[in-house]
Amino acid sequence: MTARPTVYLFRTSLNIHFTNPRRLPKLPSKIISNSFPATRLASQRLSAVSRQFSNSSTVKMAPIHKECDYLVIGGGSGGLASGRRASAMYGAKVIAIESKRLGGTCVNVGCVPKKVTWNAASIRETLRDAKSYGFNFEEVTPFDWTIFKQKRDAYVKRLNGIYARNLDNDKVEYIHGHAIIKSKDEVEVTLDDGSKQSIGFKKLLIAVGGHPTKPPKNIPGAELGTNSDGFFEIEKQPKKVAIIGAGYIAVEFAGMFHALGTETHLFIRYNTFLRTFDPMIQEKVVAEYERQGIHIHKCSSVSKVEDLGDGWKRLHYKDKNGEGAVDVDALIWAIGRTPQTDGLGLEKLGVKLDEKGHIVVDDYQNTNVENVYAIGDVCNKGFELTPVAIAAGRRLSDRIFGGRKDAHLEYSNIPSVVFAHPEVGAIGMTEPEARKRYGDSVKVYQTGFTAMYYALMDRQEEKGPTAFKVICEGPNERVVGMHILGLGSSEILQGFGVAVKMGATKADLDRCVAIHPTSAEELVTLK
Ligand SMILES: Cc1cc2nc3c(=O)[nH]c(=O)nc-3n(C[C@H](O)[C@H](O)[C@H](O)COP(=O)(O)OP(=O)(O)OC[C@H]3O[C@@H](n4cnc5c(N)ncnc54)[C@H](O)[C@@H]3O)c2cc1C
Repeated sequence: MTARPTVYLFRTSLNIHFTNPRRLPKLPSKIISNSFPATRLASQRLSAVSRQFSNSSTVKMAPIHKECDYLVIGGGSGGLASGRRASAMYGAKVIAIESKRLGGTCVNVGCVPKKVTWNAASIRETLRDAKSYGFNFEEVTPFDWTIFKQKRDAYVKRLNGIYARNLDNDKVEYIHGHAIIKSKDEVEVTLDDGSKQSIGFKKLLIAVGGHPTKPPKNIPGAELGTNSDGFFEIEKQPKKVAIIGAGYIAVEFAGMFHALGTETHLFIRYNTFLRTFDPMIQEKVVAEYERQGIHIHKCSSVSKVEDLGDGWKRLHYKDKNGEGAVDVDALIWAIGRTPQTDGLGLEKLGVKLDEKGHIVVDDYQNTNVENVYAIGDVCNKGFELTPVAIAAGRRLSDRIFGGRKDAHLEYSNIPSVVFAHPEVGAIGMTEPEARKRYGDSVKVYQTGFTAMYYALMDRQEEKGPTAFKVICEGPNERVVGMHILGLGSSEILQGFGVAVKMGATKADLDRCVAIHPTSAEELVTLK
């Protein structure tokens, strides 16, 4: 308690304290003003500076200017990973700028609060299943969404604090503010109090991520809905929800709402969702969602949303069965994500964007402008996943500050999962992709079964599906794709992902002795 302020005040420049007051440790004023000579000195200088600032309405001050080796715009998964590595491992002077909350999408409105919600949904399913195992209780305890949300928010807040401390430990200077590129060697940051700082840099990393795509303007009332960010703000469990979208976020939200007891309507444009996944996954998960009672409106489009008051809205739509309307107390647009490049000033540098606004990068995260790099969701690599942003960011720092000339992330065979009900995992090519690339040399091994977990359920309707597909190519039957769905798939895939990345063949899988009794053992005994 007493040692920390001394270290802190010696280590950081005074600039940081008055421009970024949120970094000041909360200390009793007695400690700040009296205990240590260095602390006292800094405190006196701080007061002098504050006095200067309190007169700022009459005296116009020039913006503070700072210089660094590596300026990181975006304090999300990728930016923090890259900045911390550059500073902690290679001693670069790093400044990281974040306009919202540290940790970015993943920590605040993505993977983390989503997985916590998925855990709640899974517990609810387990409670339901417990009866088949002889547990006797009259009724499942109603889920208290409000308490759950408070606890989830508190967890995320704890993580924000941990992220700030990690930056501090790694000597990355963190500035909370909004960054705009002003010229090829200057970024301007607007701080929370409206004041500005200008920052010069040797190298610039753009890691600004993306935001939920806005609903089409031609749908009257579309603004009555929220998006994936808004999902995490919902205070009360909706009775009926409409989710529009067919990507993994829409599918995960639909599964969680349904499992937690909300009547769920999912509106998709075609016959299936998760359309970038293997057809087996698309068909089986759609069928399973329908079996569970999720209302899937196939080949649908929303024409209008009306406000019914009290949080309720009427959604007018057209689907396979004609025109219809449904009243819901929550409407969520989950129709994709848009890179956060608008208004960033990239045109000042001449950074090239693709037609969707993603920054075009090569395999080494270089943009077309020297010493300007982009990683994560904002770049055009097509893998919008936290571990991808982290890995690309760390390797970039290894290369540009650590002298590892060839360090870069290989954008192939990257495993990904969908926390649907049941979970889905995929790595490598889908069957259509493999057939297109390798033609007749493709061999597919596939199985579907009921996991032992369901053995004690009396009715077939209570049993979820499990299905695995392994796609091989060439005479050695190299595994080029693996697609799995069923209980535990997200955990199963990580290990198999290593094997696929190493170039495993079907014979390699077969050589591994099965672990019994599991679902995963079917992957090493496929016929
Ligand atoms: C609902 C949802 C669920 C997800 N689930 C998963 C999952 O289970 N697994 C997984 O791997 N991925 C998941 N993702 C994706 C994952 O969150 C992203 O791929 C990851 O966060 C991308 O990291 P990033 O560093 O590129 O960007 P971000 O994490 O988005 O960080 C970018 C940061 O830059 C800041 N910023 C933007 N512009 C400026 C500016 N001008 N000045 C200062 N700061 C700025 C933003 O505020 C933001 O904090 C999910 C995403 C969503 C939306």
